[in-house]
Amino acid sequence: MERTLISELGQKVGEVALIKGWVSVRRDQGKMVFFDFRDMSGAVQGVVLPGSEAMDVAKEIRSEFVVAVEGKVNKRPDKNINTEVQNGDIELEILKIEILNASETPPFPLDQDTSNVDEEVRLKYRYLDLRTERMQKNIRLRSEFIQRCREFLFKNKFTEIETPLLTESTPEGSRDFVVPSRLNPGKFYALPQSPQQYKQMLMVGGFERYFQIAKCVRDEDLRADRGFEFTQIDVEMSFVEREDVLTTMEAMITETVEAMGFSIKQKPFPRISYAEAMEKYGADKFDLRTEEDKVNGILAYAWVVDFPFFEKTDEGGWTFTHNPFSMPKPEHVEWLMKGERVDEILTTQYDLVCNGYESGGGSIRAHKPEILKATYKIMGFDDAAIDEKVGHLLEAFKFGTPPHGGIAFGIERNIMNLAGESQLKEVQAFPMTRGGKTAVMSAPKALTDKQLAELGIEVKKRS
Ligand code: ASP
Repeated sequence: MERTLISELGQKVGEVALIKGWVSVRRDQGKMVFFDFRDMSGAVQGVVLPGSEAMDVAKEIRSEFVVAVEGKVNKRPDKNINTEVQNGDIELEILKIEILNASETPPFPLDQDTSNVDEEVRLKYRYLDLRTERMQKNIRLRSEFIQRCREFLFKNKFTEIETPLLTESTPEGSRDFVVPSRLNPGKFYALPQSPQQYKQMLMVGGFERYFQIAKCVRDEDLRADRGFEFTQIDVEMSFVEREDVLTTMEAMITETVEAMGFSIKQKPFPRISYAEAMEKYGADKFDLRTEEDKVNGILAYAWVVDFPFFEKTDEGGWTFTHNPFSMPKPEHVEWLMKGERVDEILTTQYDLVCNGYESGGGSIRAHKPEILKATYKIMGFDDAAIDEKVGHLLEAFKFGTPPHGGIAFGIERNIMNLAGESQLKEVQAFPMTRGGKTAVMSAPKALTDKQLAELGIEVKKRS
């Protein structure tokens, strides 16, 4: 007999069906045994009636056993219909149960929210945690969000392109994760903090509209809403101005979240300058929702624009606020080129905020070598140092680079907003502990002497 998904049992009333899945709960009433079964599509109640051949096996079964169950799909008597739950109007009269795999008692209950379970235990047994209703919902929500954004981007002529994971350190503003090179002992790759420079080179390469669901890795202090690894929907477009990027991306977000059943507080998204945001909210990330909006799961988006390009360093020099690759606002290009009125130069950077979080950010880029160079000059770099930092990009820009700009959306932060979660780990399948240990597997760990020798690495003993 072919397997029927639990969500489709309702169409088989009166027939015998075969389901496969997990036992959520077993309620042994002596003469009868009730079960709640679940698979990826839903849940259903089953019952082993007195005298059934399945009774002996039924008595053996515990929660989280994996079973194949044959049963007759019966309509429940009116008095037993539960309209609150899926399949609340039917019941599986169990004829036969096969145990496909037994289960030990899970280290924490899986039929309830696991937010209060100890983090280490939860992540050690993440595969069990993932069976809980909340985690199933969050991870599926993430998948749907990405799928819908992808569909939008394909529909709008974007090409999905992967960029390398083993790459060169780039000035994204955080510490790098590095990977030693066996072929070049003593030398290291860096894992990408973002595909920023590659995506700009794809614009030089003539792709015009690029996107990638890109893994990014930054060695930052871990917080509830920040981990070492995160995923971006990374986008870059040629022959565009700020307005083009904002409208295209606003359409992507709007279509995606509305199709997922969410409501947006204000459309088009309000735009607010950095100066105004600081004055009104004291921050460039703010929450425009009322208490009632919060209860109703409303999404309050806003674009923040007109950021200062530079800020003072502790040593009294200048550094970029967001991205060294950005173009200043057209009316400030001259100041940048001359290194004048540095504190007044505004960048084309735009950030999308949603419910108090940064949902995405990007800019129109400096696509002419002399503009990018001027940015680095302001930050105190001489020609040799500029060449060391962004020489390959300056070289590429000599060969007919189209004006371009882009953006990246942090998937985790966006899903946190959709799912109403405040912890990053609730929306990643295998997040790290706050101490930087991987879920399920035990990294980081020491290398063997043989590996170290191959890599030409000596590890100092901690004193
Ligand atoms: N690379 C930038 C970031 O990761 C985003 C962008 O400007 O496209 O924040």
